[in-house]
Amino acid sequence: MKDRNLDLQSGRRQFLKAAGLGSLALGAASSGLVVSRPAQALSTRARIVIVGAGAAGIAAANRFSRELNGAEIIIIDKRERHLYQPGLTLVATGLWKPGKVIDRNDRYMPSNVRWIHDMVSEFDPEANQVTTGSGERIDYDFLLVSTGLTVDFDAVEGMSPELIGQHGIGCVYDNPEHASRTWTMIDQFLTTGGVGLFTRGPGGIKCAGAPLKVTMLTEDLARRRGQRDAVSMVYNSPSEGLFSQPDMDQFLKQEFPSRDIAINWNHRLVGIEPELKRATFATPNGEQRIDYDFIHVVPPMRAPDPLGNSALAWQDGPFADDGNWMEVDRATLQHARFPNVFGAGDCVGTPIGKTAASVKAQVPVAVENMLAIIQGREPVSQYDGYTSCPLITGQGRGILVEFDYALNMVPSFPFINPYREHWVPWVMKDRMLLPAYNAMLRGRI
Ligand SMILES: Cc1cc2nc3c(=O)[nH]c(=O)nc-3n(C[C@H](O)[C@H](O)[C@H](O)COP(=O)(O)OP(=O)(O)OC[C@H]3O[C@@H](n4cnc5c(N)ncnc54)[C@H](O)[C@@H]3O)c2cc1C
Repeated sequence: MKDRNLDLQSGRRQFLKAAGLGSLALGAASSGLVVSRPAQALSTRARIVIVGAGAAGIAAANRFSRELNGAEIIIIDKRERHLYQPGLTLVATGLWKPGKVIDRNDRYMPSNVRWIHDMVSEFDPEANQVTTGSGERIDYDFLLVSTGLTVDFDAVEGMSPELIGQHGIGCVYDNPEHASRTWTMIDQFLTTGGVGLFTRGPGGIKCAGAPLKVTMLTEDLARRRGQRDAVSMVYNSPSEGLFSQPDMDQFLKQEFPSRDIAINWNHRLVGIEPELKRATFATPNGEQRIDYDFIHVVPPMRAPDPLGNSALAWQDGPFADDGNWMEVDRATLQHARFPNVFGAGDCVGTPIGKTAASVKAQVPVAVENMLAIIQGREPVSQYDGYTSCPLITGQGRGILVEFDYALNMVPSFPFINPYREHWVPWVMKDRMLLPAYNAMLRGRI
């Protein structure tokens, strides 16, 4: 016991020391980044347009505003609220109040950036132009696309976002209202007991860990409330895996059965009958209907239509079929066919990503490379696919999963075993990631 306490204390000291360095929580260890800052701002009269003022768009706007002198920087997005989406898992499981994830975009908008409060309805990269919903045409010299993604509720027959919070239906994606209504449903399920179905849309989804975290936190809450025997839980995977990183996949394939969470493989949610509380899954043996008391619906996701239907999207191949994602070089984030266009965040079609941690690693690369081409140089900064997820397995514990395009684990904390549960990922998720995220928005980390 004495040794274990000493280990714990030493672990805490090292953690606090590392945390004091500021930026680890959102993946400062994104190995392979070659990012340098110019000694002074670059003078240019270029017009740079950023589409989407979410995590990636605002972080890029702050970087451009500091690094450029004389440029015209425009950002387009009608959304006024800024949502800290990584906190939604905690809202949906009753651990955070919804207000904690709601902020205002204007708090982070640099004063020298023109914000157009509208949505882009059309991308015309041949003409170097975007058109807004109100019909305004905006020319650009350089374009950064950071529109995030669309949660495709219509892909599940009978499902609509209005159903979240009724008939035992929950969905953590992708705003605080949905997450909070999901908590109402989970709370009710844990009180009355019954069958809980947990799902995950196929293909690229944002924070692929979120459906798993909702499942494990619900199981943990059931246990804490003394209701574990009253609920039966089934996770429905649309494939034969639970997570893309093989070590984590293996961990989860042991963890779920050990916690009596059954797994249905190759079960893709295709329909829901809310009044009957019945879900339909496409399986290799045909459609299967399963009754539930609670269901966590995670629909497929895709690029927003104006982007997905434009020439900027992949025209064929897996990233076209999977969600009409934007075509970029996976390392430089430059568009393959339109070299003055770059992408960052959830909208890009790269093998992995779609986390705020990826945004943290991608934005400096995209900005650095855009600065290079503004100066007529080649883009040389490279994104190595870094992504990270504090995979919360229960209140007070989790695994900090960090990996890259090669699916190799790239741990930031040398003193934590990245293959075992630990209290540090929980503290990061609960206390540290929000301030780190806000620092990222301001372009400071
Ligand atoms: C439940 C949940 C849990 C998560 N957990 C984690 C986690 O633990 N760790 C982690 O790192 N990440 C996590 N994430 C993922 C992370 O939040 C996203 O990857 C990140 O926010 C992506 O940033 P983005 O800028 O690409 O998109 P967003 O932040 O979604 O912003 C996109 C912006 O583009 C705008 N837009 C869309 N279309 C247009 C258009 N046509 N014209 C103009 N503007 C447009 C939207 O209004 C929006 O403001 C989680 C996400 C969710 C939903």
